[in-house]
Amino acid sequence: MVDHLQKSSATEWLYSLGTWWHKVAGKRAMPLILGVIATSGVLTLRSLGVFQVWELHAFDWMMNHRLAEQPDERIVIIGITEEDIERSQSAVISDTFLAEVILAVKDQHPAVIGLDLFRNVAHDDGYSQLQEILAETPNIIGIEKVIDDDALAAVSGNAVLTQDNRVAASDLIVDVDGRIRRGFLFPSAVGDLVIEGLAFRVALEYLATHNIYPNPDANVLELGHARLPPFEKNSGGYSNADAGGYQIVMNWRSNLHFQTFSAYEAVEGKIPPNALQDKVVLIGSMQAGDADVFFTPYSMGTRRDSPTLLPSYGVEIHASLASQIISAAFGQRPPLKTLSDYGEAALITLFAWLGIGLYHTGRSDFRRLQLYSFFLFGNMGLSLVLLMIGGWWLPIVPTGVALITAPIITRLHKLNRLQALSEIDELTQLANRRGFRKHLTKEWQRAVRSRTPISLILCDVDYFKLYNDTYGHPQGDECLRQVACAIGQSVRRPDDLAARYGGEEFVVLLPNTDAEGAQRLAKEAAANVRALAMEHSASEISAYVSISLGVTTVFPREGVAVSTLVDTADLGLYEAKRRGRNQMVLRLPWAV
Ligand code: GH3
Ligand code: MG
Ligand code: MG
Repeated sequence: MVDHLQKSSATEWLYSLGTWWHKVAGKRAMPLILGVIATSGVLTLRSLGVFQVWELHAFDWMMNHRLAEQPDERIVIIGITEEDIERSQSAVISDTFLAEVILAVKDQHPAVIGLDLFRNVAHDDGYSQLQEILAETPNIIGIEKVIDDDALAAVSGNAVLTQDNRVAASDLIVDVDGRIRRGFLFPSAVGDLVIEGLAFRVALEYLATHNIYPNPDANVLELGHARLPPFEKNSGGYSNADAGGYQIVMNWRSNLHFQTFSAYEAVEGKIPPNALQDKVVLIGSMQAGDADVFFTPYSMGTRRDSPTLLPSYGVEIHASLASQIISAAFGQRPPLKTLSDYGEAALITLFAWLGIGLYHTGRSDFRRLQLYSFFLFGNMGLSLVLLMIGGWWLPIVPTGVALITAPIITRLHKLNRLQALSEIDELTQLANRRGFRKHLTKEWQRAVRSRTPISLILCDVDYFKLYNDTYGHPQGDECLRQVACAIGQSVRRPDDLAARYGGEEFVVLLPNTDAEGAQRLAKEAAANVRALAMEHSASEISAYVSISLGVTTVFPREGVAVSTLVDTADLGLYEAKRRGRNQMVLRLPWAV
């Protein structure tokens, strides 16, 4: 069957490929192989970045549907609001005013102060005082912008802080869709200098006050209980992202909010006593019109209890990242973890196989629909739980696509197989009349275009009714099988086709073959049948089973009916019968 199919439907490559697998791997391996095909497809699409937007949306969806967490009380933000700027009576907060703010904060003895303002130039005559305060406050960390990109040029840090090695990078990583989901521990090194990101630096300073330091011997960053492997370009739902520097994926707290005071509240003593003591205090801009606002997964959040539907301020993002690092170091909240490429491929393969398994489990399409819905939503739910509990960011979209694609491929494969089976004669495993007609139509059109001849051999077993009567029907079937095989053997070219035309009649279609070639093949077929030496005692012409053959050759062109081929060959066959059977007669249509 397999050999025959490869010959008879060479163009149906998919089916041939399928039967070849059957031959190589056996029937049971087919679902596994279809699973691998689905997986490869999904992995290819994933590497092309097709799923990235969906994956990031899915990530945001998960972030927005986590259970609410308590705000991190170790971190307090002093926001420079629009009101503060107005009172300061300048375009930016004045040096004098900022100096007052810092003094007020310093008064409460915070563990570390992150100053998320550049302050590399003087804004008023309070600058020297500000410089003095910065010099005298060893736990203040300032910022500079390290990465010089199209969006924002590099900005140097405050001179006093820079000299004292107390600047960190304020750079943030914005995803293609404008949202922030990753943060720098270190941005790409510029020159020899490697500086920490602001959040990481203040977290390090804070953890140092609790005697927690990075493990100097580890090859990825280990800090207390936290292991923070660097983000790679395909981590999580990302495809080919810029993984420059040392980044981690943000494991946002469900609640982005930190205790926040305005700068005026600080200078006017309105911050409760000890509210800042031993804490991380971040001072930064909180003006809505400022450039320092960013979108996060929460910016379009759907949580009713999250007021953060608006963009977040840069200082809040630094606070959030610092909070994650500190919590992870204390072992209170896991950092976000992603699968390796291999792990992800394995998970996708598993889902593809699950999809095929469900296809075979479901008895009806409705039942299958139920099963797929259950597993798709189950996958989403489980991913959400794993994210909340273990910090695992597992791919939802590629696994979901694999779950659905695999059964679709299985269904297509089955349809293809059914289609092919409907064109096969069950007894002889040759093409049946339907298969023959399909092939004939195709070859006829091709011959019209290429102006080449088509030949046809029509064969009929001699005195077959008598054979049945003599040896019985089952033996008659066996005889037909063997005759079919003998005739099939004379067909060698890929476009040739042997088919069972009906009862004990067979046809051989020979595209691009002239009358001479067709007659040679017909003789060969007859000789093959004779060589079977099947006894036929009732035959009046031979002691063995024999066939009569009608041969014809037609040059197909517009205006000539396809039926001409069979009709003319039939005339040849009739003539062969009339002349006494067991012979071949060539008939050409009158038009040729
Ligand atoms: P002729 O020499 O003129 O061709 O006579 P014939 O008996 O071969 O031709 P006829 O068409 O009269 O009879 C064909 C017989 O083939 C009749 C039918 O019972 C038998 N036949 C058709 N299909 C099958 C089949 O699948 N199995 C078997 N065993 N016999 C079949
Ligand atoms: Mg017949
Ligand atoms: Mg016959």
